[in-house]
Amino acid sequence: MSFCQDVVHGVMPTFVCKNVVFDHSRARFALNHPRKDLRILGGLLTGHADLNRHLHTMGLRQNSVCPLCQEEEDTTAHFIAQYSALMLLRKNILGDYILSSDTLSNIHWFLVLKFAKASKRFY
Ligand SMILES: [Zn+2]
Repeated sequence: MSFCQDVVHGVMPTFVCKNVVFDHSRARFALNHPRKDLRILGGLLTGHADLNRHLHTMGLRQNSVCPLCQEEEDTTAHFIAQYSALMLLRKNILGDYILSSDTLSNIHWFLVLKFAKASKRFY
């Protein structure tokens, strides 16, 4: 599986696939967050976030390319693991400048949400 494939093309990101099993701590986490935060997190986990790949699929963007690097599609995996403009933020919150797919699989939703909100790409 390519690192940046997502649910739009029928392949779920690894970190979603490994979280399909019911997890009480993740359920408690979800129940204790406002709807706005859950919308952001749900979008990222399902590939339906307000990123160009999904917006292009919905007919709301002319292309699916990352608005900053313009080298890759603007997917959840690209945003969380590779997006060059967020390297310092990623290092501070997620622990490294660039994340491998294995690392991405083990990040807790709390950190994904914290990173997404700190990026200021979601409102
Ligand atoms: Zn990029």
